[in-house]
Amino acid sequence: MSVTISDDCICCGACESICGEVFSIADKAVVNDANVAANADAVKEAAEACPVSAIQVG
Ligand code: SF4
Repeated sequence: MSVTISDDCICCGACESICGEVFSIADKAVVNDANVAANADAVKEAAEACPVSAIQVG
């Protein structure tokens, strides 16, 4: 499972709130790839919660 953040990210913090093990906010949200597999359901929840659909899960 791969997770990427597009430049549409507005740094709202929702993904970090839902799954801080994977997402953190800098100038835009960044992904901790090492924790993606163990947090797959929360990653999908965060992707659905993103207000600008900036999280792509493949
Ligand atoms: S939820 Fe979406 S817009 Fe908000 S910080 Fe995460 S990637 Fe960016």
